[in-house]
Amino acid sequence: MKTKTQTRTNGSHTVKSATRSSKSSKETLEDIFEGTLKDIYWAEKHLTKALAKMSKAAYNEELKDAFDTHLEETERQIGKLEKCFELLGKKAVAKKCEAMEGLIKEGEEQIEEHDEGHPRDAALIGAAQKVEHYEISAYGTLRTMANVLGMTQCAEILEEIKDEEAVTDVKLSELADKINNLACEVDEEEV
Ligand code: FE
Ligand code: FE
Ligand code: FE
Repeated sequence: MKTKTQTRTNGSHTVKSATRSSKSSKETLEDIFEGTLKDIYWAEKHLTKALAKMSKAAYNEELKDAFDTHLEETERQIGKLEKCFELLGKKAVAKKCEAMEGLIKEGEEQIEEHDEGHPRDAALIGAAQKVEHYEISAYGTLRTMANVLGMTQCAEILEEIKDEEAVTDVKLSELADKINNLACEVDEEEV
């Protein structure tokens, strides 16, 4: 809720009074929840394309598999989000997520700026983990809102997606250990 401080001069006195914006008072938590859902819906839809590109760019087979598996999971997550919109009684609409657009761009930059190999794979994992962390945070927020709004089934779905993102993050951390070591060996060979 936005509180505006108004300052006006009353003779020799300066009077400060707090007024509430009339627009914000009409907004409900349900509106915020719906907006946040639209944001992550946009993000997931765009991630399917991004994950396909990451998989194509991955040099390591295990990393390629991890991206492919998460791509399939992401497609199912889109369906789960559509179920949430249905439970909310609203149409599934995507609203551009500026943050995810930027994170996807960072991943694409790694592909464009570096040659295929273990070092670029390490950079791809870094970009992918930034995405997973954004998702974990977004789904945590959404799950809490759904619970407060009494939307238990919705909250369960959102918690389930949050867990999938967390498992993916752990898997990427394990791959990062392996691939960063391989990238180091490449560096040593070149010395
Ligand atoms: Fe996701
Ligand atoms: Fe966003
Ligand atoms: Fe994800």
